[in-house]
Amino acid sequence: MSDTLPHPALRPADERRTGDDRRIGDDRRDVNAATVLRTVLDRGPIARSRVAALTGLSASAVSRQVVDLTRIGLLCERPELTGGGAGTVGRPQLPVDVDTGRLAVAGLHIGVPYTTFSLLDLRGNVLRRQELSNRGRTGHAVLGPLLERLPRLLAQVPGGRTVVGLGAVTGGTVDPDRGMTVRHDPLRWKDMPLGELLSRASGLPVRVDNHARALTQAEILFGHPAARRSMVHLFVGHVVDAALAVAGVVHLGPASATGDVAHLPVPGDDTLCHCGRTGCLAAAASDTTLFEAAAADGITSRPDRAELIAAVQAGDRRADLLVRRRAAIVGRALALLADVVNPDLLVLTETFAVLDPVYLDVVRAEFALRSHLHRDADLLIAQRRGADALAVAAGAAVLGVLYARPLQATASAPAPPAGPGRLL
Ligand SMILES: [Zn+2]
Repeated sequence: MSDTLPHPALRPADERRTGDDRRIGDDRRDVNAATVLRTVLDRGPIARSRVAALTGLSASAVSRQVVDLTRIGLLCERPELTGGGAGTVGRPQLPVDVDTGRLAVAGLHIGVPYTTFSLLDLRGNVLRRQELSNRGRTGHAVLGPLLERLPRLLAQVPGGRTVVGLGAVTGGTVDPDRGMTVRHDPLRWKDMPLGELLSRASGLPVRVDNHARALTQAEILFGHPAARRSMVHLFVGHVVDAALAVAGVVHLGPASATGDVAHLPVPGDDTLCHCGRTGCLAAAASDTTLFEAAAADGITSRPDRAELIAAVQAGDRRADLLVRRRAAIVGRALALLADVVNPDLLVLTETFAVLDPVYLDVVRAEFALRSHLHRDADLLIAQRRGADALAVAAGAAVLGVLYARPLQATASAPAPPAGPGRLL
């Protein structure tokens, strides 16, 4: 697929594997590397001795991992942060940090109205974000123009960073292992081999995932500390999806379906769902329903996100009521989810709760009213990346693998540029 050279430090594990011992050794090395990398992600810039103290690994093991992780572009030394150093004998202990200057990951969130392309550094900061309209296309027609533009988009990496992987996330049922969107009704996709198509077009390793799981992964890596304990994420857009993570691991259910909350009953709503019933969450609360209602009421000229946001921001009372009504439905659904799972954290990605805390308050008030466990509504937060949320989630599909198995994940990636991170 790719004409990029194998990474100089590491070759694919399969190539060098001579038996179970070697594999177990490789796995252990990768687990230790991940432990060091995650500690630096959370606490960096940080001294190696502190990493050793925090992880329980020996000083020499930490040093070895830092050398490997620096060579492959994931860590760098921060000599400018060394206090003093004059008069010390030998090499000073330079703090290490996640290297945000040499590598990048790319992301695609393929949605119904538009696709978001992104480039992120290793701390999940958005280096570039671009929305590409899907112009009402469905099926394979969504992908054609995208595959054509992809090489040009990937060539625009700021700072000469090397892109080491591409994350591609969509709604619906997605099988990461097969790199396939199994089913996405609004896009009319069935068994779409997204990973293979994108890999061919980009020459990069591709990680395909469901967007609710990817948003959850982003929260675990870069978000609220409670996300590492347990969290539920609810995405409310044209599709309504939820995902669950426990002990820092995003749950991938049988058949790769993420938790299907589309038909969760929300009493009191009479919108007809395509399943034939009324009172289903997706039918009651999706963007499609909201934007159509706004157009039907004459608030907007057509079902359109930007027009409705403009109406809300201009203080249109009817627009405000519509958005509040949806927020209350979302609050009811979140109360159900919280009562079933009892998570440490609930994260909501919904346009208006993200834009204006007033609407998050409506969600929280309804949540507090409905939750039988009487959980404090403070456990419920809105996605804090705002307009960047989907861009970060798309890249997080790759970053999640990178932080879990750094050595394996970079084994077939293009080599990083030499830079200040290189150990002497
Ligand atoms: Zn339904």
